[in-house]
Amino acid sequence: MLKGFASWLRAAGYDTSTCDSGLSDRELLQLAIKEQRLLLTRDKKLLEFRHAAGTVIYLQCNLLSDCVDALSTQIGLDWLYKPFSRCMLCNTELIPAAECLYERIPANSRKHVTNVLYCPCCDKLYWQGSHVHRMTGTLTEWAHRRKKDTAV
Ligand SMILES: [Zn+2]
Repeated sequence: MLKGFASWLRAAGYDTSTCDSGLSDRELLQLAIKEQRLLLTRDKKLLEFRHAAGTVIYLQCNLLSDCVDALSTQIGLDWLYKPFSRCMLCNTELIPAAECLYERIPANSRKHVTNVLYCPCCDKLYWQGSHVHRMTGTLTEWAHRRKKDTAV
């Protein structure tokens, strides 16, 4: 479930790494500290490590919306930080695509697109399609939900 959540953090523009390798809890925490990351986990045991404070964020939630609220509340996460500025596949920061790459975009979409971005790592193009519009709507809703809650 946190993997899906990680995609949303990436969509919001946060430098987000997921861990698939068989690192021990201690190694995972050390890596997070070294890379100056927050470690989001559903494993409460990680809180018990000596250097966990300030790095480990324990998410006690089963629903995506609860995780969204938890991060908004606990660390004041801005869901509209830098939307769609990172590659959804590899987390690399996107750069403006060279004009010569535009011909890869399907012809029926090409005439409507502006601001095409490129991942130099995956060789993948990103442009504002309906998928991005839908996701932007969700991120905006999450950002405003937080403002509404904190204003009370
Ligand atoms: Zn990429």
